[in-house]
Amino acid sequence: MKEKIETLREELRKHNYNYYVLDKPTISDYEFDVKLKELQDLEAKHPEFFDETSPTLRVGGQVTKKFNTVKHRFRMYSLDNSYSKEDLLDWEARIHKILDTDEVQYTCELKYDGASINITYQNGKLIRAVTRGDGFEGDEVTTNIKTIKSVPLQLQGNYPSDFDIRGEIMLPNAGFLKMNEERIANGEEPYMNPRNTASGSLKLQDSAEVAKRPLECYLYTLIVNGMNTKFSTQFESLQVARNYGFKVPEQAKLVSTIDEILDYVNYWEVARHQLPFEIDGVVVKVNSLDQQEELGYTAKAPRWAMAYKFKAEQVSTVLEHISYQVGRTGAITPVANLQPVLLAGTTVKRASLHNADQIEKFDIRVNDTVYVEKGGEIIPKIVGVDFSKRPKNSTPTQYATHCPDCKTELVRNEGDAKHYCPNELACPTQITGRIQHYISRKALDIEGLGGETVALLVKEGLIKTYADLYDLTVEDILPLERMAEKSAQNLIDGVEKSKTVPFEKVLFGLGIRFVGATVAKKLARYYKNIDALANATQEELENVDEIGERIAASVVSFFTDERQIAIIAKLKQVGVQFEINEADLVLESTVFEGKTFLFTGKLTKFTRDEAKEMVEKNGGKTISGVSKKLDFLVVGEKAGSKLKKAQAIETITILTEVEFLKQINR
Ligand code: AMP
Ligand code: ZN
Repeated sequence: MKEKIETLREELRKHNYNYYVLDKPTISDYEFDVKLKELQDLEAKHPEFFDETSPTLRVGGQVTKKFNTVKHRFRMYSLDNSYSKEDLLDWEARIHKILDTDEVQYTCELKYDGASINITYQNGKLIRAVTRGDGFEGDEVTTNIKTIKSVPLQLQGNYPSDFDIRGEIMLPNAGFLKMNEERIANGEEPYMNPRNTASGSLKLQDSAEVAKRPLECYLYTLIVNGMNTKFSTQFESLQVARNYGFKVPEQAKLVSTIDEILDYVNYWEVARHQLPFEIDGVVVKVNSLDQQEELGYTAKAPRWAMAYKFKAEQVSTVLEHISYQVGRTGAITPVANLQPVLLAGTTVKRASLHNADQIEKFDIRVNDTVYVEKGGEIIPKIVGVDFSKRPKNSTPTQYATHCPDCKTELVRNEGDAKHYCPNELACPTQITGRIQHYISRKALDIEGLGGETVALLVKEGLIKTYADLYDLTVEDILPLERMAEKSAQNLIDGVEKSKTVPFEKVLFGLGIRFVGATVAKKLARYYKNIDALANATQEELENVDEIGERIAASVVSFFTDERQIAIIAKLKQVGVQFEINEADLVLESTVFEGKTFLFTGKLTKFTRDEAKEMVEKNGGKTISGVSKKLDFLVVGEKAGSKLKKAQAIETITILTEVEFLKQINR
């Protein structure tokens, strides 16, 4: 059995390497998943053969409460920056002078705009991964790094027994855009740029969340301590690292003259926009490791390397008009419509203006000449106004007061950055958007029905709400453009099948503002059915773990709207799931049924997440504050104010961690 497990691990490692490092898969995703599942099952049955480099660990799951600070074995220096070609020429001349020779070669590399990382390998196994921090010490983020598929957990070939390797964790543009689309679909603010999102990902506590993000790791510095290394130049070291199984940048180039360096810079200054990820410059490194040693370091950076930073590309153009878009939850986004202008290799006609505050801050007006920039970000943005070109008759921008679509007066709640169209159920864009959301994959996942068909059904007046989907018949939809008997039947079947989709997805599908997939799951598990949720007060909702004021208010307002109640009643009547199927939860017992728990102080026997899971698996709930509603307070070490407060309420039972475990026979 051990042999079988190891063969599978070896095979999966190879396929991972082919797919993520070489970009040349040799089996289908499906075959890969089947093998992975087989290995997972075997490992579950045989925990005695655990291996910390198993490909099954890629999916994450371990939670890090607090990231340990770790000292770097070798300091992580910064790089000297140059912003002009002259700076680069000066640097190159200086190198020649110090080394007193004309024989200098350079490795030119891209300067990745991500989060830097140092990874330690011992005997071929990934031991530790640490962020740069202040260069002397950083945070240990090993569990999170292990989920990144292009980082080898087990090396191949003839590797040194102990070394560090450095590189950059990147979020490629396509993955970044996809994450943002999902956030917007969930009514959440999009992330700013790939770099911040990549470095933020490294510090997520739940490694399963990290595993879901399409992060990549490019490695460019191999540090083998002392011993006779198999390379004597930077360029060779990249090849060597590639042989061990690392993803090493393809674009590195070995050159011998300053002209070649400048060619490289000029080429990538333009070609960078074709890369699938973002770079903010190039890095030039003296190739010979002996020469590097001779040159040494300044207080903060190596003398043997120089970064050349690209300027954020900026152009000015005329803002022709401001238009407003309505999202599915009614959120309004102002858009700058520009006189078309070439920027970073693409023609730009539009830029985001974010919200009313942004427009006011920069005092942006129609007919202004504005500066448009494309730097680290993918979407161009307006960074200022050329006031010298402002027309004499210019007047300050009046932000839209009414919905561009249904003309209803907009509202802006205190604390919200955005304006909203409050006409949820009659605003055409919102009607279509809501139904499109309802049928989407993470919600009711209705097969046979796509976004365009929804728009068509709305336009033809066949549906007004998602509840109307359940009234559709084949005869209704057959007359639609491009609709054949088979596709009509598929649509009807898909709608029928959605009646078995679990409550938490239905709740998400309702499209309550700020209730994304995760919050919906939380609420569904807590309240168990729609009536309990609909009757919850603002205060009760805020008491639910991780539910804040904003979400609570949105839920309450949704369920006080009689039109929404009517829609839900109709959905209920046709048989859509509005309560949790208890069997899905696989309860261990019901000893905590109807009881509420709160954990306080430093827990030593289990983590907070584990505690919560134990409570839920035994029929109880956790809440976030001490009040009369609390039944049990479980105290760890150094419990503080919550314990005091609980002692003052007679009905609360106070338990130690051990006493808590005893209740569920653990
Ligand atoms: P800076 O943050 O401007 O001081 O630049 C130094 C950082 O550039 C390093 O910490 C690395 O994370 C990053 N970097 C990106 N690409 C490279 C590369 N090819 N070689 C060295 N450092 C790089
Ligand atoms: Zn509207």
